[in-house]
Amino acid sequence: MAVLDQLTSQQAIDLENKYGAHNYHPLPVVLSKGEGVYVWDVEGKKYYDFLSAYSAVNQGHCHPKIVGAMVNQAQTLTLTSRAFYNDMLGKYEKFATEYFGFDKLLPMNTGAEAVETALKICRKWAYEVKGIEENEAQIIVCKNNFHGRTTTIISFSNDPVARKNFGPFTDGFIKIEYDNLQALEEALENNDNIAGFMAEPIQGEAGVYVPSEGYLAAAKALCEKHNVLFIADEVQTGIARTGQLLAVNHENVQPDILILGKALSGGAYPVSAVLANDSIMNVIRPGNHGSTFGGNPVAAAVAIAALEVVKEEKLAENAERLGKIFREELAEFAKENELVTLVRGKGLLNAVVINDTEDSSTAWDICMKLRDNGLLAKPTHGNIIRFAPPLVMNEEQLRDCIAIIKKTITEFKK
Ligand SMILES: *Cc1c(COP(=O)(O)O)cnc(C)c1O
Repeated sequence: MAVLDQLTSQQAIDLENKYGAHNYHPLPVVLSKGEGVYVWDVEGKKYYDFLSAYSAVNQGHCHPKIVGAMVNQAQTLTLTSRAFYNDMLGKYEKFATEYFGFDKLLPMNTGAEAVETALKICRKWAYEVKGIEENEAQIIVCKNNFHGRTTTIISFSNDPVARKNFGPFTDGFIKIEYDNLQALEEALENNDNIAGFMAEPIQGEAGVYVPSEGYLAAAKALCEKHNVLFIADEVQTGIARTGQLLAVNHENVQPDILILGKALSGGAYPVSAVLANDSIMNVIRPGNHGSTFGGNPVAAAVAIAALEVVKEEKLAENAERLGKIFREELAEFAKENELVTLVRGKGLLNAVVINDTEDSSTAWDICMKLRDNGLLAKPTHGNIIRFAPPLVMNEEQLRDCIAIIKKTITEFKK
């Protein structure tokens, strides 16, 4: 078999199983093409993508404007490292800081790197601005969080599968219950060593867990009262996914540190960023932090295009409108179908909770049937299916998808 021969699905799966590390358990479908809300497998079967690469492909697969910007820049200059200036990074930084309303941006590549960067900035700010004694700073995080996979980040995860046998872990984190203001208040009271509070505005991986209305605004206010930085991890919820540009916008909250990734590039390229105002970002000086690829010209060109698409195509408005239809229809359906307990979410970040035990395979089995019926989705923790299509979907396509989901669950037999 020559390397570039067209494979069958089974051949492609066998290759990954034999030659790749087994750090994922994918749904058995092998994709070879994408366009807008659709993907195709190697046998040519067409599917609606209802995962969007964990909300990285908000702008739709292979968006021509984003791909165009990428190809154009790739033919001109791809990488200089930050040892030298390039003519794209400054333009991008100006564009993105104005777009999100911050003084400065620090460019990285993946979400986990951006989270690490935010934690480092927060600690440095704590020592150099707030005046906490060196090595004493603590950062509050939430139970059931997902912030990525580095050793420090899994240090404050409570997912045993993500942690087991990866220790020793990084100190300096306090874990509290999500969506619990009293827990936050107690953690902040009588502790002068708290530097920051980091949270996802909606806990995506945990199962699209939406906090109570007012939680984010009240948490931000508590942080302000205690001179603690409010760090929003919007890697999954940001860039129009929840019906606003950022999920914190639903409560008019401006985080002290904003973390972006995933859809910042429309899924075309790994691009992440940390944004903050000068009083915070200026603690970072030459040599303190860096990345060979962070801020490269291709990433800059791609991110500008990806952010322009969000505004030009009114993706936040579309997500808000279609999300309401999706939840209304499925909530109605849940009343008459005993397999569906409830539907929850915001904009086009939604989840359906399946009425079965956490360790049953029902959600997975339903996703297999959805696949057979031309729609790709994946269970999150336990028996929860996340539904997050590209935001370029139109109402007719959404209604078609709702029909597929209802039909699949109605016909489903354990
Ligand atoms: C996906 C995700 C990350 C990690 O991003 P990677 O690019 O996979 O490193 C961090 N935080 C949240 C909320 C995410 O959804």
